[in-house]
Amino acid sequence: MNFTDKTVLVTGSSRGIGLAIAHAFDKLGARLILHARSAIKPEVIASFHQEPLTLQFDIADAKAAEEALKALYKQDDFEGIDILVNNAGITKDQITIGMLPADFAQVVNVNLNGTFNVTQPIFKKMIRQKHGSIINISSVVGQMGNVGQVNYSAAKAGLIGMTKTLAKEGARRQIQVNAIAPGMIVSDMTDQLSDKARKSLLESIPLSRFGSAEDVADVAVFLAGNNYITGQTITVDGGLHI
Ligand code: NAP
Repeated sequence: MNFTDKTVLVTGSSRGIGLAIAHAFDKLGARLILHARSAIKPEVIASFHQEPLTLQFDIADAKAAEEALKALYKQDDFEGIDILVNNAGITKDQITIGMLPADFAQVVNVNLNGTFNVTQPIFKKMIRQKHGSIINISSVVGQMGNVGQVNYSAAKAGLIGMTKTLAKEGARRQIQVNAIAPGMIVSDMTDQLSDKARKSLLESIPLSRFGSAEDVADVAVFLAGNNYITGQTITVDGGLHI
């Protein structure tokens, strides 16, 4: 697969799964736009073959997203985004009876509203350019639920609905929209798990191991390179949710 004439924006690409996805597209010749809430570190920028553009804003802030993207599209030599990977996300776990409404709202705001805030302005441009691929990073817990993640599972299930609607709305303009639902992936997010939680999770994964960020990146590259898949969610979870 070759992405040499493609520009790819990966949100939340300062580390973890987002960075692995960005590296996978970079290896195949794409021009990358990295994004995070914090500034992208110089050593991350230096790890790319082709110098990436960078964006820094909180995706939960609709105005900040709109302004940053407006400025990006106004750059003289900017030709548009071909592939958008909505990867930025957070967790704030607590069982339902103990969850603060503010923590519920924050997780939905970042994972679901934040994805909308980034997607809407880019989707408008993709409609005009009559092509594009959008990949939303959902989660297996959006498909199967998970104790302690009422906020996160609701937001990630919402992303699957958003994916289907965007796929239907974008299809006439050759815009494909799909989602990936990773299971347990080695990352900062899963490093926070207690040994007990880790052990019990491993027992419920048929492949008996956590996945790698590259396992998810492989699927993002596959979806972006395919011409006839849209509205689908590909689960990458070692069999956790069969
Ligand atoms: P991670 O290591 O915690 O990285 C999260 C990324 O998102 C960082 O780049 C972070 O930027 C960015 N981000 C977070 N909140 C943001 C905000 N409000 N505005 C802008 N950027 C923001 O996460 P990960 O484990 O790689 O997960 C990546 C995605 O995969 C998430 O959507 C997650 O829900 C999903 N996922 C992960 C797993 C897993 O097992 N790890 C499983 C299923 C799904 P900063 O560096 O600036 O904070």
